[in-house]
Amino acid sequence: MNILILGGGGREHALAWAIRQNPKCDRLIVAPGNAGIAGIARCAELAITDGAAVVNFCEENAIDLVVIGPEAPLAAGVADALRTAGILAFGPSAAAAQLEASKSFTKEICDACGAPTAAWARFTDAATARDHIARVGAPIVVKADGLAAGKGVTVAMTEAEAVAAVDAAFGGAFGDAGAEVVIEEFMTGEEASFFVLVDGTNCLPIGTAQDYKRVGEGDTGPNTGGMGAYSPAPVLTDAIQAQVMAEIVEPTVAEMARRGTPFQGVLYAGLMIENGRARLVEYNARFGDPEAQVLMMRLGAQALDLIQACAEGRLDSVTANWAEDHALTVVLAANGYPGDHQNGTAIRLPELTECSSRMIFHAGTARRDGQLVATGGRVLNATGRGATLAEARDAAYALAEAVDWPDGFFRRDIGWRAL
Ligand code: AMP
Repeated sequence: MNILILGGGGREHALAWAIRQNPKCDRLIVAPGNAGIAGIARCAELAITDGAAVVNFCEENAIDLVVIGPEAPLAAGVADALRTAGILAFGPSAAAAQLEASKSFTKEICDACGAPTAAWARFTDAATARDHIARVGAPIVVKADGLAAGKGVTVAMTEAEAVAAVDAAFGGAFGDAGAEVVIEEFMTGEEASFFVLVDGTNCLPIGTAQDYKRVGEGDTGPNTGGMGAYSPAPVLTDAIQAQVMAEIVEPTVAEMARRGTPFQGVLYAGLMIENGRARLVEYNARFGDPEAQVLMMRLGAQALDLIQACAEGRLDSVTANWAEDHALTVVLAANGYPGDHQNGTAIRLPELTECSSRMIFHAGTARRDGQLVATGGRVLNATGRGATLAEARDAAYALAEAVDWPDGFFRRDIGWRAL
């Protein structure tokens, strides 16, 4: 198979690394890719949110399967364009990607299928939203309805914070994404992520993970795209996974199909677990980053077989073979991230022998005049796998320590919750 992956972060490096190991994979192209991906695939320039351009590229390069990494091409309808052109695509249609792109859409689906989630209300003007906050009180959660690059959610501990978030959204802080606001009940508990491949009808769970959003050790400081993750998440016991499948995922998948907009791709459920039961926080319509790094580390080459079966609508014909293993990833970020940080700083990586249980996945890197340099906030993902979480953690941290990058930093407490 000739395969095209859209995206250029740590998630896409992990997908490329796993897919490349499968003997079915002939040619692998990643657009735009990064310096790490360039070691295992061809990197190509391509307007990845332009469906016609992606279709054209696939026809010119005899691509058999397109794996869509980030949310932007999904929301832009790239999967629709590919399917219309008869090209196999892994990722939901724009209509089904609304499960990520619109908070109120997801809440309506939950209501329609009875999936447990926080109580909610939707607002299109600030005055009514402020009245609601005054009536319900804090803590309370304010969300811009649309895609806001992870910045549209305020967990407000006071009414003043909630009102400020409402005013920011309606004041245009998130552009069109904030023209509508969802206000939710504040849920307590432990958060975890659950990943399920869905082919429109059939569901195949492919793992659990927990991630670290805050920049500082002990979960302090501002939110980030994610500073580390591990899989599996012990809080998602078999019993809770069964509850999530029966009460949240399967009803959602059935409701989407009933509406004529079946979901096909990876459904990533963000869950809040309390007293042995899970409620839905949100859906994403793609793999998480850095969660994909730990999932791919654990799945390895079979990831391609599962992704292909998903895209072909025959998930009922495959199973995921899990080893009793654990994976953990530590994000190396540029000093100053998620605030201002320098680009172009030099990185020296340790020499790694080919190995299926440790890997440095690249996110924001490029090669300039032969030198590896940082080109973003989150730059590398030191990832390890082991028979225990402690082993995985030690492998990941040994890699992170071996990176020579004076201008970067990483959290030293990834995995502490589970250990
Ligand atoms: P979301 O983008 O909806 O996942 O929200 C980002 C983060 O905000 C989540 O990962 C949670 O930590 C937190 N959050 C969102 N909704 C709620 C809620 N209803 N109650 C408590 N925390 C929430």
